[in-house]
Amino acid sequence: MSEHFTLRQVRSHMLAPAVRHMAFERTDGAPLRFIPGQFIQIHFDDGGRALKRSYSVGTFHGDPGNPEGLVEIAVSYVEGGAATRLLSGLDVGGEIAASGPYGRFCLHDADTNGRYLLIATGTGVTPYRAMRPLLEQQIAERDLEVVLLFGARNPGEVLYGDEFRALADRLPGFRFMPCLSREGSALPHADERRGYVQAALAELSPDPARDIAYLCGNPNMVDACFEALKGHGLPIPHIRREKYVSPPDPRRAAAG
Ligand SMILES: Cc1cc2nc3c(=O)[nH]c(=O)nc-3n(C[C@H](O)[C@H](O)[C@H](O)COP(=O)(O)OP(=O)(O)OC[C@H]3O[C@@H](n4cnc5c(N)ncnc54)[C@H](O)[C@@H]3O)c2cc1C
Repeated sequence: MSEHFTLRQVRSHMLAPAVRHMAFERTDGAPLRFIPGQFIQIHFDDGGRALKRSYSVGTFHGDPGNPEGLVEIAVSYVEGGAATRLLSGLDVGGEIAASGPYGRFCLHDADTNGRYLLIATGTGVTPYRAMRPLLEQQIAERDLEVVLLFGARNPGEVLYGDEFRALADRLPGFRFMPCLSREGSALPHADERRGYVQAALAELSPDPARDIAYLCGNPNMVDACFEALKGHGLPIPHIRREKYVSPPDPRRAAAG
């Protein structure tokens, strides 16, 4: 069930030149109960407009970097963006109104597939970060393979790349494939690819008998991968999507 609460910023750092990892505590001291894959909304006033924006929760249980279980989000700065203005200027101790959790972009207990194809661009990787313990558990319990395809322009924009690489190194069954569209790494890992995630997806030969796909982030990428996966024969319920879009501006919507 979703609730309204206030978040206080505890710490933050830049994950990439225009992406900020932010960690918050609830001012009421309560934990945020959420299912990995869900998002929260922040509520704020922007020059007389009451706005809200959504952010996927990236917190995962057992994270040594977040023993307090703070509410973690990754915020991609958008030029001229209202939430960008607010969140990029928020200092430690700064408070924001929020609500949640929301959303159904979650793993399903009833899934018996042999492989998850997790596909993201940019901050769209955050839900998969939150899903880590569940994925690890499922890999341990059944013959499951997980492939994370992450689309970015260059190595500096591979968010949480070190974490996912370390997980892949430790966990047979989990594969991490960064797909870099503009510039590759100086010393690329064997699983790094040049180009868009769609191209790497074809290399994995999606199989309707075995695969369930999750797509998160840039709407164009989500649409392109959705069409590609349908083309490979995946049934629509096995292609789960979350598009990162802003709601329409209430002033522009009111103007017609
Ligand atoms: C379910 C859901 C989960 C989301 N999770 C995250 C998340 O974890 N992290 C995150 O950073 N964002 C996430 N988003 C997007 C986020 O809610 C905001 O839309 C985004 O941060 C921009 O908000 P803003 O107020 O700064 O920009 P706005 O004021 O909404 O937009 C300013 C201008 O930029 C354009 N614009 C908006 N977004 C983009 C974009 N991505 N690229 C280029 N132009 C854009 C708008 O059309 C507008 O012209 C999510 C969205 C949804 C629906």
